[in-house]
Amino acid sequence: MMYNRILLAVDLTDESIKVANKAVALCQATGAELIMLHVIESLNYAYGGDVPIDITDIQSQLQETAKERISILEAQLSIPFKESCITQGGIESEIHRIAEEKQVDLIIVGSHCRHGLALLLGSTANGVLHGAPCDVLAIKVSKD
Ligand code: AMP
Repeated sequence: MMYNRILLAVDLTDESIKVANKAVALCQATGAELIMLHVIESLNYAYGGDVPIDITDIQSQLQETAKERISILEAQLSIPFKESCITQGGIESEIHRIAEEKQVDLIIVGSHCRHGLALLLGSTANGVLHGAPCDVLAIKVSKD
């Protein structure tokens, strides 16, 4: 199976490097380009309405922190990203939107093993799968 353009969605936690390394290996095997995406959940979106304070400074601080973390992540990888995107909104919907906009043929996300209530609440990987415009690869992220 050949892929030309892969969208890697990262939450920028310490686990991102494990998922990114697999994405890089797949790019090297298929010759695909790698696009990285981090979504800053907009506070309005997260709270389901208007937040009664000025959050402009907080959002721009989050943006700066995300940029720094993306640079650190990229420096740890053996190939550079073709492009990295930081967007704001709902995580799953932004991943779908950017996947369409960039015309990727594979989305890669990390996936935790979930139990109990967390399983009921669902995961980002599950949310991305539904309505995805292309293939989705969930990389299992374990605790060790
Ligand atoms: P979860 O199991 O719901 O914590 O989601 C884990 C995976 O979802 C991560 O490894 C990422 O691939 C993706 N993900 C979660 N949050 C974000 C985010 N803010 N931006 C982009 N991808 C994310």
